[in-house]
Amino acid sequence: MLADEFGTPLVVYCEETIRARARVYRGAAPDALVVYGTKAFPNVAVLRLLAGEGLGADVSTLGELRFAQRAGVPAERLVVHGNNKSDEELQAAAEAGAAFVVLDSLEELARAHAAGAERLLVRITPGIEAETHESIRTGHVGSKFGVSPEEALSLRGDVAGLHVHVGSQLFSTVAARETVAWLNHFLEDAGWKPEVVDLGGGLGVPTRPGDTAPPIPEFVAALLGELRTDARLILEPGRSLVAQAGVTLYRVGSVKQAGERTWVAIDGGISDNPRPQLYGARYTALVANRADAQPGGTYGVAGKHCESGDVLIDAVALAEPRRGDVLAVPVTGAYTLAMASSYNGVPKPAAVLVADGDARLIRRRETVDDLLALEA
Ligand code: PLP
Repeated sequence: MLADEFGTPLVVYCEETIRARARVYRGAAPDALVVYGTKAFPNVAVLRLLAGEGLGADVSTLGELRFAQRAGVPAERLVVHGNNKSDEELQAAAEAGAAFVVLDSLEELARAHAAGAERLLVRITPGIEAETHESIRTGHVGSKFGVSPEEALSLRGDVAGLHVHVGSQLFSTVAARETVAWLNHFLEDAGWKPEVVDLGGGLGVPTRPGDTAPPIPEFVAALLGELRTDARLILEPGRSLVAQAGVTLYRVGSVKQAGERTWVAIDGGISDNPRPQLYGARYTALVANRADAQPGGTYGVAGKHCESGDVLIDAVALAEPRRGDVLAVPVTGAYTLAMASSYNGVPKPAAVLVADGDARLIRRRETVDDLLALEA
């Protein structure tokens, strides 16, 4: 069993799922450049396999750029973001020969030129309130990202085109349709015919039974179907490529009653998946080593950290979990390990990629020695 072989917590990725989803994106938008939103899970092996499927990478820091470069993502498929790029990051983007650097403020233009970055886009904040958690809504007025439509127009002579990304974990096509309608009016009113339009990412994924999200082709059709432009298009999916490909395995420790509740404690928690606390994310789980057993009750799944709020799942029906069981939490491939910390001195989990029945390590487990190596 993978949990025995590689230890826990362990994030297990399915290569075929990632490839299949990449192919659906490419099939749905054959003329667009599809770049993986690296922030969802910055990992060299995943970037490499997506590059093999013809995708590029959207990177938003020097670190992510280096991951993409290590993976051999071709420069002409690199899009460099960041709301506070340093001169060093701009220079690295220019030296990498990235296809585009996306300006996030007016002052960045001069610094981008000074760094030698010539192929530029500008990120616009269209003032759209996407229906998602406020922490992952990005296109509203007052967002820390991008520039106003007026400011974007002032840069029009300096850029090849524009970028919009209104939010993440979108469970409908409403925001996508609104974005496209807004873009059509904006470009027509301004008489702007950009060479490139980058429509960002954003498609959500169901994390629990009963959740629904549009299939990739429907979401892409909502973006591309109504867009009136001859521009070359870029899409930047992150979560919808890797979230469902990942399942996290934890080892069950203590199981105890507290008032009305029974807590199942796992050997990870907020340090490997902070999304429940950050966004109110909801997950389901199952006892993987007895996957066929019927649920015997409802349990809260608690992490091992020194926070009462370190609760991965408030309530889930499980087959009577016992110490030593393996608890599997599906749809944890995006923004989990990517956001991991070593809170409480807990080393970050390992990740493996499974293909044709074989698992290979694609991120080794952090060790306490790794943590101590940083100490004076
Ligand atoms: N592009 C940009 C500019 C982003 O900020 C993000 C995520 O926030 C993405 C793409 C990827 O979004 P998602 O993972 O929702 O597809």
